[in-house]
Amino acid sequence: MPRVYNFAAGPGTLPLPVLEEVAANFVDYHGEGMSLIEMSHRGAIFTDIIEETRLLVRELLDVPETHDILFLQGGGHLQFAMVPLNLLGAAAEASYIVNGTWSRKAAQEAAKFCHVNAINVNASLGVPDASDIIVANDAAYLYYCQNETVNGLEFNFIPAAPDCVPLVADISSNFMSRTVDWSRHSLVFAGAQKNFGPAGLTIVIVRKDLLGLTTESCPTMLDYSVHAKAGSMYNTPPTFAIWVANLVCKWIQAEGGVAQMDQRARVRADLIYNQIDNSGGFYINSIPKKARSRMNVVFTLEESALTDLFAAEAAKAGLKNLKGHRSVGGLRASLYNAMPEQGARALAEFMQSFMKRHG
Ligand SMILES: *Cc1c(COP(=O)(O)O)cnc(C)c1O
Repeated sequence: MPRVYNFAAGPGTLPLPVLEEVAANFVDYHGEGMSLIEMSHRGAIFTDIIEETRLLVRELLDVPETHDILFLQGGGHLQFAMVPLNLLGAAAEASYIVNGTWSRKAAQEAAKFCHVNAINVNASLGVPDASDIIVANDAAYLYYCQNETVNGLEFNFIPAAPDCVPLVADISSNFMSRTVDWSRHSLVFAGAQKNFGPAGLTIVIVRKDLLGLTTESCPTMLDYSVHAKAGSMYNTPPTFAIWVANLVCKWIQAEGGVAQMDQRARVRADLIYNQIDNSGGFYINSIPKKARSRMNVVFTLEESALTDLFAAEAAKAGLKNLKGHRSVGGLRASLYNAMPEQGARALAEFMQSFMKRHG
């Protein structure tokens, strides 16, 4: 079976050299006579891997020493609860920019813990105008989802909060595809399975001075400061996922780093958006240009009855997993770091030929 182009939103495509290296060393980890997933997480081999991975993330994203890098589990969903549990302190309110599926879910979870000031974004705008982001000085934090994976929206600016209000970002689906301004972001998190590694690993990067605000009743495992103190080894970390993430970091480094990932992401996304915009309405993406995601390109067909045929024919041509999220339908091409430009070109050409045949 030749390797296909996998446009899945998550778990998503990973770099082939990483998969090959994992395969070559899976059963016998570099001559150790056992698999890495059979080894103690406290042994020298794995502790070297986790420490190196933390350093690589720090280097690749230029994370300053003011911030800790945590390797956790539970996915983005657990962060929807951990963020308020850890950052509320004595505050009664947090502000959430709600502009898509994942920010809405995060705001709903936070409402279990505090009053949520929801900054609802008009669906036709995609992301808010800077002037619509009004945050009280006593809000515990301002939360936004930098890339809405389901809706195909990405912020191309950093929302402004008062200086005293920490900014929190869900960067699950665009992690490692652009730089992070650490002078503005107090906490970012990402489930690895979108753009970074296998499912089972969640990365949290948090300002050290915000640790320790939890109340007595906070479950131990949900307290960032516990994981920070233990170097993400309070309990058994997801060893396999961290190994693969380590190799992905090295791959990104060898390919030229995060700036290069950003540049490539723009090239890939432009190939698909250009095809949509030049289709005379055959393909539709109604998101304002400034809010269009580089990572997840959503589109519909003017003739919506052709959607299933499009996905089926594309799959036959080796372009897999193009159906949109079950909640919104349509089509979605996720163009993560590991998607070669050739994959985006193949999709653009397929779109062109599909339109010729059915337009
Ligand atoms: C997928 C996704 C989530 C949820 O992630 P899980 O790891 O499945 O809990 C949250 N936020 C964003 C932006 C996502 O893409």
